[in-house]
Amino acid sequence: MLKGLMMDTPLAISALIKHADRHHGDAQIVSRRVEGDIHRCTYRDLHRRARQMANALGTLGVQTSERVATLAWNGYRHMELYFAVSGSGAVLHTINPRLHPEQIAWIVNHAEDKVLCFDITFLPIIEAIAAHCGTVKTWVAMIDKDRMPPSKVSLTCYEDLINANSDRYEWPEFDENLASSLCYTSGTTGNPKGVLYSHRSTLLHTYAAALPDALNMSARDAILPVVPMFHVNAWGLPYVAAMTGAKVVFPGAALDGKSLHDLFEAERVTVSAGVPTVWQGLLTYMEANHLKFSTMNRTVIGGSACPPAMLRLFQEKYGVNVLHAWGMTEMSPLGTACTLKNKHLDLSPEQRLAVQYKQGRVIFGVDMKIVGDDGGDLPWDGKAFGDLLVRGPWVLRKYFKEENVDPLRDGWFPTGDVSTIDPDGYMQITDRSKDVIKSGGEWISSIDIENVAVSHPAVAMAACISARHPKWDERPLLVVVRKPNAQVTKEELLKHYEGKIAKWQIPDDVVFVDSIPLGATGKMLKNRLREQFKDYRLPSA
Ligand code: AMP
Repeated sequence: MLKGLMMDTPLAISALIKHADRHHGDAQIVSRRVEGDIHRCTYRDLHRRARQMANALGTLGVQTSERVATLAWNGYRHMELYFAVSGSGAVLHTINPRLHPEQIAWIVNHAEDKVLCFDITFLPIIEAIAAHCGTVKTWVAMIDKDRMPPSKVSLTCYEDLINANSDRYEWPEFDENLASSLCYTSGTTGNPKGVLYSHRSTLLHTYAAALPDALNMSARDAILPVVPMFHVNAWGLPYVAAMTGAKVVFPGAALDGKSLHDLFEAERVTVSAGVPTVWQGLLTYMEANHLKFSTMNRTVIGGSACPPAMLRLFQEKYGVNVLHAWGMTEMSPLGTACTLKNKHLDLSPEQRLAVQYKQGRVIFGVDMKIVGDDGGDLPWDGKAFGDLLVRGPWVLRKYFKEENVDPLRDGWFPTGDVSTIDPDGYMQITDRSKDVIKSGGEWISSIDIENVAVSHPAVAMAACISARHPKWDERPLLVVVRKPNAQVTKEELLKHYEGKIAKWQIPDDVVFVDSIPLGATGKMLKNRLREQFKDYRLPSA
């Protein structure tokens, strides 16, 4: 074998911030902080403070591969930790603060976190869990000395740690397969599972995510990640930003329509990313106040299916191109993104939209296939649907601390999603396999039913779940939240389905509710709804 003669430079997360400092040192990181103000710094500042924090972690006794947790909003301190922790060889464990404190304590113990850094908003959580988290030696409040909150838990001040440490720090070199960060799945059933990324998987994912047919990020962008930094590393955006030198705008805790719109405008944001439920809030606010975007030209929507009505509204009314993307915690998270091909450029606007509604084509590096019940490959004809399997260098191989369980099927990761793939390679999620409605042996996609519901002008949010039926086993039940002051009856809504989907797929009943429970990452909790409506008697039953 003749080996190539190129340098064997290990891929390292620290290289990203070094690059951003050297080549985009004055590009800005803007953060709405828990202090209530807008904070500005540059990549140069952020790199300096990350080196100080890396030294601080050393003084706290954090060793290679030990876990440092965060419980924090999107902000510059959180981003400093992304580089300080992973860059120094420890593992950044981002925790979702919207989980129940008991679940958080469980995760902290499972991860054996040594240090936990938190925004002071989350002090009540820290006070509830501290006594149960024996592995945590240091609780760091991410704030300056003057604003340190009184607490029965012994706290260390983040800014004191920074100030007490030198910025002279050489990022260590190590094997690129070293673990870099840890994120637990939302775990709608059973305990959450840890997904442990490496420097290699993160860097490869970052290169791929930045590509024009993926997130398409550049030094000319101002990125506002609405997706939280505790949800799969904000879909990789902090790393992509550093790789490309883009300006970053962090929204902190203020995710309501007004706060977001103000920040988009004030900071001349060009691109954003988030789950549909967040955009719903923003669009409702903008519609009510007759607002537009002046600089925002595109947004990434994923985490759950983007309703066609939302995609259309963004593009046709607001001039914001929607990039529909699909992925999961186990995939770092990006798997597919929906951009057109050259041959689509002559399509009519309607035909283009029909392509864009899909979850899209794989990003190079990810391999996907759909299989039937017998495990055999299904055709890519846009019609056959089956279990979606993936593999690639940023796809999970084993869960953290479950090394003797093989979650793969013949080397492929089963995503739990059911989908079609068309001849051009565009994948479309039919449903989560748990959510699909099995009516008399035929499958009904709950996503399709929801998409029609939210295209009705009076509907703010809709979830379709299965209800028991003596003849058909399951039939679709539609749970709807109306828009404020809007009226629509069950009959009107059911009529709205006519001609849009097959007659037998139209829901059997509609119930109006004040709200639909959302999970920790902003997705509708359909298992909670199924539980709530488990004894529901359909009029047709
Ligand atoms: P999580 O690991 O919490 O990010 O959840 C991953 C799951 O979210 C996927 O397996 C899908 O079921 C769902 N998901 C993510 N993006 C999309 C999308 N664009 N359309 C439909 N479902 C999605």
